[in-house]
Amino acid sequence: MTSNLKFIVDSNVGKLAKWLRMMGYDTLFFNGSDDSQMVATALTEDRVILTRDTQVMKRRVVTNGRLKAILIKSDDPEWQIRQVVDTLNLDYTFKPFTVCLECNQSLEERSKRQVKDLVPPYVFQTQSHYMECPHCHRIYWRGTHWQAMNEKLNKLMKG
Ligand SMILES: [Zn+2]
Repeated sequence: MTSNLKFIVDSNVGKLAKWLRMMGYDTLFFNGSDDSQMVATALTEDRVILTRDTQVMKRRVVTNGRLKAILIKSDDPEWQIRQVVDTLNLDYTFKPFTVCLECNQSLEERSKRQVKDLVPPYVFQTQSHYMECPHCHRIYWRGTHWQAMNEKLNKLMKG
């Protein structure tokens, strides 16, 4: 089973963070400059490192298998996410729509009434399921943006 995986995404493959969060995976974005810090966090929190940095792959904790890291080959974010899904045999339909795309917090369900004054009227009229990020308070619904990302993901994986 690979469904409980957590990730830490190096800044050189930063776009992967949103894709993985969209699938429902707990994914940290590392934007520091010290790789040691990223490696330490990955070890402590049991996260898989995704990076384009070959130096990270040469670290002993990686070569001896204590820490899992994937060297991303492509510049293209679409190929990058495919590589991750293929390599880990990742379930890309894991828990869509459960993690904030911006800050990686678990989303909480909100009733229609609770979001009435927080979403545009046309959204309120057409959507019935809402989620809120307890950290940044963004409201999510399965609208066109989410659908577009989801469709793209499906197409990518089947293509
Ligand atoms: Zn958030």
